[in-house]
Amino acid sequence: MRDVVILGSGCAGWTSALYLARANLKPLVLTGAQMGGLLTTTSIVENFPGFPQGVDGTTLMAQMMEQAQKFGAEVEFGVVAEEVTLGKPVHRIRVGGKTIETRALIVATGAGHRHLGVPGEKELKGVTYCATCDGALPMFRNQPLVVVGGGDSACEEATFLTRFASKVYLVHRRGELRASRIMAERALGNAKIEPVWNSVVESVEGVKEGKVTGVKLKDMATGKSSALPCAGVFIAVGHVPNTQIFQGKLKMDEAGYLQLGPGSRTNREGVFGAGDCADKVYRQAITAAGMGCMAAIDAERYLAG
Ligand code: NAP
Repeated sequence: MRDVVILGSGCAGWTSALYLARANLKPLVLTGAQMGGLLTTTSIVENFPGFPQGVDGTTLMAQMMEQAQKFGAEVEFGVVAEEVTLGKPVHRIRVGGKTIETRALIVATGAGHRHLGVPGEKELKGVTYCATCDGALPMFRNQPLVVVGGGDSACEEATFLTRFASKVYLVHRRGELRASRIMAERALGNAKIEPVWNSVVESVEGVKEGKVTGVKLKDMATGKSSALPCAGVFIAVGHVPNTQIFQGKLKMDEAGYLQLGPGSRTNREGVFGAGDCADKVYRQAITAAGMGCMAAIDAERYLAG
């Protein structure tokens, strides 16, 4: 029987682990498939306080893990919770053929990439959701590339891809970006980036060739379709919370974000939420860390009765 188990290893999970480890509660972190979560797929993090030169997302996650482990947090890597049974006072988590029992549970499972759901997206090599992971691949070098989306992620990905691409088309469904001013200005001020406004991707082309050859676009104003040749499509249209295993078990909104309160409490006793799986408003590394801290303090008080 564990005192507390943390699902997820992003900013929220590691901050919870740090606080709970320092409280001597020996938290167990189940990292999920991707240790470090979405932050490990960004390039440089420039807005995490304390790093005036910026910090690589993967490095930041590794340092947070090291800090939590230093105080006694235990970690199981690559482990994904398959099923959770919420009880009172014991919660059970099924992972890889075993069941872990815990008195408190912190859900910090983050969010995954939203898909467009258009023909060619699933099937084709050259469609990706992570420029830092895939942008440097030979197939994308000195080629025209398409980035879809209008938020910070799309601007960040487009700017990053200018290092490799001959040209980057930033395809956005509206006539103005959602991204923060600094990110938008950086992208639009880059001579290699050409915005394609009021346009949506209808399909990714290239099924016959077995690789991306272009996208079919629809102009939202005129309804006209056009072809835009490219060698890669980088999709950055937001995220979906990783809360599927809690469907019907924890209160969530229609998009699947956990509903919390007071503090980090879910609607089930001894279950707390933190980070992107419960936040569709701020979704920042620093806010996820703050929520992780709140969840740890709430869990600690709950365990103390
Ligand atoms: P986001 O802010 O939700 O933006 C998603 C973008 O995709 C929006 O422009 C949206 O269009 C578009 N979109 C959504 N569904 C679409 C669809 N089906 N087809 C076409 N376009 C679609 O997501 P994000 O950019 O990933 O950012 C998420 C959070 O992370 C934000 O809070 C952001 O500030 C943060 N972030 C920060 C940094 C940084 O500071 N370094 C970097 C990356 C992300 P509309 O605008 O029309 O809704």
